[in-house]
Amino acid sequence: MADVAPVNLFSLDRDGLERFFAAHGEKPFRARQVMKWVYHAGVLDFAAMTDLSMRQRELLARIATLRLPEVVARRESRDGTIKWAVRVGNGNDVETVLIPERGRNTLCVSSQVGCMLDCSFCSTGKQGFNGNLDAADIIGQVWLANAELAARGESVTNVVLMGMGEPLLNFDNVLVATNLMMDDLAFGISKRRVTVSTAGVVPGIYRLAETTDLSLAISLHAPNDALRDELVPINRKYPIATLLEACRHYLSGLGDKRTLTMEYTLLKGVNDSIAHARELAALLRDVRCKINLIPFNPFPASGYERPDMTVVRAFQTHLLNAGYATMLRTTRGDDINAACGQLVGQVQDRTRRQARYIARVQAQEVA
Ligand code: SAH
Repeated sequence: MADVAPVNLFSLDRDGLERFFAAHGEKPFRARQVMKWVYHAGVLDFAAMTDLSMRQRELLARIATLRLPEVVARRESRDGTIKWAVRVGNGNDVETVLIPERGRNTLCVSSQVGCMLDCSFCSTGKQGFNGNLDAADIIGQVWLANAELAARGESVTNVVLMGMGEPLLNFDNVLVATNLMMDDLAFGISKRRVTVSTAGVVPGIYRLAETTDLSLAISLHAPNDALRDELVPINRKYPIATLLEACRHYLSGLGDKRTLTMEYTLLKGVNDSIAHARELAALLRDVRCKINLIPFNPFPASGYERPDMTVVRAFQTHLLNAGYATMLRTTRGDDINAACGQLVGQVQDRTRRQARYIARVQAQEVA
């Protein structure tokens, strides 16, 4: 038989692993054994998986690998936030951020190298798009962070797909990875604590509703189409009414107690007035949701500013008074550029858009 490339078992969820073993004439329950070694015991060497027969261990060593993304940088903020840059399969680097707070360890995971959506206030979009992460590179970010936490007796408790990229445009790989996050044989994180965040890829929301009931966050950022068209260009394709219809559909599969999260990045003088808050409160009246306010995190040449705290508070108060659970996302890890919208990574094959962006930064520095 001709040699085929070994399969990276990190790219398979439980179903995939069971099929993999079945295809090699092995019992599907081997999948469970291997998952426990990999995700519970942190063992990546097939030879050490002692409840498999010698023959099975040798077979795995021949036809499979357990390859993680490579950590190329690690920085720790004075507030405990940790940011890793990891090199993924296609040779590019993406970033992963761990945010420890109040007994929780939330991991912010990347799903793509760069992003094609180009939201006007997000630095990831400025670097252009350079490919999808495969499932192994997505779940590998969780494995690596969890290994570091395990060494101090902790674990990843929450995962948000709010790093680089648009998760619903890398649907299949994200689904395999989120299955593993929630699988008791892997990370066993509750569906309430695994959140996919989307800029509004409507067909992806419907597909997600067919396959899972994990938690969903929507990057709304504007209460009307005119403004949202400008900030989140995918709105021109899937306008707010279409998006909220998809949200209601997704909610119908969640049960009465669960809600969606609406994210709203506050941009000074752009979407932060009380009139905007009022419009937002009216817009969301029949969508069961809580609202997450994110004061803009600046990056070079963004052209936007963070509103004053008094404006942020007033916006929040209006929504609270209108009956919305409204959280203010405190900025974490900004001393290491780990805050929302600041993740960039290192794209090897630079796109023209990135070159234009660099030119703009340089022009601004000169001015
Ligand atoms: N593409 C997905 C995942 C990215 S999530 C999505 O759009 O939801 C990252 C969150 O941070 C999104 O809500 C995004 O709009 C927000 N964000 C991006 N840039 C930001 C910035 N500079 N300051 C604050 N929030 C930002």
